[in-house]
Amino acid sequence: AERPPVDVAALAAGVRDGSRSVLARAITLVESNRPDHRAAAQELLLELLPHSGGAVRVGISGVPGVGKSTFIESLGTRLTGDGHRVAVLAVDPSSTRTRGSILGDKTRMAKLAVDDSAFVRPSPSAGTLGGVARATRETIVLMEAAGYDVVLVETVGVGQSEVTVAGMVDTFLLLTIARTGDQLQGIKKGILELADVVAVNKADGSHERDARVAARELAGALRMMTPAHDTWRPPVLACSGQTGAGMDEVWAAVQDHRSTLEADGSLGRRRADQQVEWMWAMVRDQLMDRLQTSAKDTLGEVEAEVRSGDLTATLAATRLLDTLGLPDPP
Ligand code: GDP
Repeated sequence: AERPPVDVAALAAGVRDGSRSVLARAITLVESNRPDHRAAAQELLLELLPHSGGAVRVGISGVPGVGKSTFIESLGTRLTGDGHRVAVLAVDPSSTRTRGSILGDKTRMAKLAVDDSAFVRPSPSAGTLGGVARATRETIVLMEAAGYDVVLVETVGVGQSEVTVAGMVDTFLLLTIARTGDQLQGIKKGILELADVVAVNKADGSHERDARVAARELAGALRMMTPAHDTWRPPVLACSGQTGAGMDEVWAAVQDHRSTLEADGSLGRRRADQQVEWMWAMVRDQLMDRLQTSAKDTLGEVEAEVRSGDLTATLAATRLLDTLGLPDPP
């Protein structure tokens, strides 16, 4: 059947006007994998790109149960109360099966979901982490063009998703909770290295003391690590998304981090580097997509030969890549 063309100009105008329904449709467009949608989405993004970049982009990560949605609800409503417009996005590669993602779920952030100054969008179910990451990055552009000045990108502390989110935000905030014994045990070192700000959450009631002890221990551990920037030492704070205690301090630390990046020009560099890294990720993605098509008829056979040992993995790779019809490397 004939597909109705996407009216890119109308979408762009609606997004810039701040229409929630048009913004929602534009996000659905960038999340789509249909080739005609992909083309229209790129046109839309090109048009909106000059109006993007204005938000404070913050990644918020932590294992399930650490209190991310409670924290974001609390932080988000504070920020909208202060006159900000807040967008909440999620990167959840586990949300592939259903539309119902465990992150960015509106039922988890009941107040923000009905806040006129907030826009909560669940994780796209784009299949791979690469697909989810692409849609999320492109959605950030839409959100900024729509006038949201704070973008919170939530991700669950599993696998590669934190690295992916750290690569699309200005400040990466790691939420953790106090644990007995070795405080570092539950936190992968690689994740700690990504953090610009660390917050020990649930510092309330009988947990408060433990949280403060944990924060001090973590701060000690962080001092042993080589900092990612010579001008910034990730602070470790204690807070409670539930009572709101310490939330202002956490936000102040996020703003401090950003001011530090701005002051020495590294915010611009960080964003530019992220774009270039992103471009290479897209090259890899698109190459794989094309390969899946071009090598469609030989894939099974070549894989079988590698399995049986009749073909080396290297030769097999060359044979698959040859189906792309590219000139040989020199
Ligand atoms: P998420 O899975 O990281 O999004 O965590 P949730 O926000 O859904 O919270 C998980 C559980 O921890 C829920 O039972 C919350 O009520 C509880 N919780 C969340 N934040 C706090 C907090 O600041 N203090 C305390 N004591 N409990 C909290």
